[in-house]
Amino acid sequence: MNPIKIYAGYSLNQNVRLSSSSGAIFSVIAENIISCGGAVYGVRMSEDCYSAEFMRVTDIDGLVQLRGSKYLQAKVGNTYKQVRDDLLMGNVVLFSGTGCQIYGLKNFLGKEYDGLFCIDVICHGTPSPALWKKYVEYQEMKNGGKLKNINFRCKDDSWMDSGMKEVFDDTSQGKTKQLYISKDKDSYMQMFLRDYCLRPSCYDCVAKKIKMADLTIADFWGIDDVAPEMNDGNGTSLILIRTVNGMMVFESIRSKLKLKEVAYENGVRSNPAEYRSCPRPPQRDTFFGDMETMAFEELEKKYASPIRETFKQLIKRKIKNTIKLVIRIISRGRE
Ligand SMILES: Cc1cc2nc3c(=O)[nH]c(=O)nc-3n(C[C@H](O)[C@H](O)[C@H](O)COP(=O)(O)OP(=O)(O)OC[C@H]3O[C@@H](n4cnc5c(N)ncnc54)[C@H](O)[C@@H]3O)c2cc1C
Ligand code: SF4
Repeated sequence: MNPIKIYAGYSLNQNVRLSSSSGAIFSVIAENIISCGGAVYGVRMSEDCYSAEFMRVTDIDGLVQLRGSKYLQAKVGNTYKQVRDDLLMGNVVLFSGTGCQIYGLKNFLGKEYDGLFCIDVICHGTPSPALWKKYVEYQEMKNGGKLKNINFRCKDDSWMDSGMKEVFDDTSQGKTKQLYISKDKDSYMQMFLRDYCLRPSCYDCVAKKIKMADLTIADFWGIDDVAPEMNDGNGTSLILIRTVNGMMVFESIRSKLKLKEVAYENGVRSNPAEYRSCPRPPQRDTFFGDMETMAFEELEKKYASPIRETFKQLIKRKIKNTIKLVIRIISRGRE
């Protein structure tokens, strides 16, 4: 069934938007739930940056950790039980995760609760946490320090052409080192985007067929063909409102967003993960065996050879990025 309403949108809070993966819709909703005394469940990186995990947040400052996509499978632990305890105590709960995690939560709860509100992301798949750990250990060795912060979707270049920002702590020298790696050059992102390292269930995803979230958020890929005036280069979300509950929550945050209503077909045209699982590539059959036995450099050579840009593509990309940067500087100056 198609959603009730579909929008292109983003938060009017520029700082929060720049530290979110797309238009910061998650943060606007989460702040609203917390202001009403509710609890928010979302995903943060663990302290050692080797894994991602769910966390319960009840103060607005705590939302910083939940902001941004973490491109690896998150540990659920006892989160479903914590959510049930909150609901039984009469607390309002926002649960934000992938569609299959919401499917798991609802099956665990076994009944509907008025106080539960669920947001999922359009999700093309989650990479293996074991691959992420191997990548981090390799990066730490190469850069001579411990990874202390990671942003999978840094918008310093632009939202559409994002990269990984990694911060390493060299405790022996008392220094920090910051790296920016374009997603086209980062070997981990390439293994992810080529679909080699996803969970088996991602190639036949239950959440593409059974939608259980009240609201779905995603990047609005293809925005320039649908509503170019909604793209200032800082991140625009696609918002799919699926239930009456979702509509109610959305109405309560509407004044904090810049919005444009769009047709479903236009919204998802460049985002097939909304309705279709990604095909399982032949390399998936050997990838996990190789991951067990190969060093990361070997894995990188075999599965993440860099995308070669032609000179024409390079010039086109540079011109596009420069225009976007100028637009961003001008729009920030106006604020
Ligand atoms: C694994 C993954 C795959 C995705 N695939 C697509 C895609 O194919 N197309 C597309 O348009 N968008 C995809 N997204 C969604 C997109 O990257 C943004 O997260 C989304 O647009 C929300 O952005 P935001 O700015 O509103 O909020 P943000 O602050 O960026 O959203 C963060 C929210 O995402 C949740 N989250 C972050 N990491 C995880 C994780 N590992 N597991 C579960 N939940 C997580 C957090 O709980 C948090 O609530 C994917 C996200 C993830 C995590
Ligand atoms: S693609 Fe489907 S099964 Fe895989 S993590 Fe996303 S929602 Fe879950």
